[in-house]
Amino acid sequence: MKKIEHIGIAVKDLSQACDLYEQLLGVPCYKKESVWCEGVEVAFFQTGDNKIELLSALNDESPISGFLEKRGEGIHHIAFEVEDIFFEMERLKGKGFVLLSEKPKKGADNKLICFVHPRNTRGVLIEICQEIKPQ
Ligand code: ZN
Repeated sequence: MKKIEHIGIAVKDLSQACDLYEQLLGVPCYKKESVWCEGVEVAFFQTGDNKIELLSALNDESPISGFLEKRGEGIHHIAFEVEDIFFEMERLKGKGFVLLSEKPKKGADNKLICFVHPRNTRGVLIEICQEIKPQ
């Protein structure tokens, strides 16, 4: 894995959280996006080489709704950038990690993504992501 690509933070109200993080980080949100298939609305901030992704639920079936109910607002996942997500998924499966999808999914911010179940990672939800390169 190459580096931490972003840290995902679950929030109840995206626009309020955006205002707060703009003040905190001193940079404006550079992208907002709704990922309907995942039931999440996200906002991204860039600080140096790193990104923060704020996530809120679009509906009650959203995994973010469940997370907020169980754990409240806070760090939701850590995302690592990988060169070849198919290779990394096979590698992780081979080591006994449980992946949350069979195939990579199209995530926010022009990425292919896959999550690793937190039960194998000491309670931390890990995302691996690969930039979708223009054809
Ligand atoms: Zn993420």
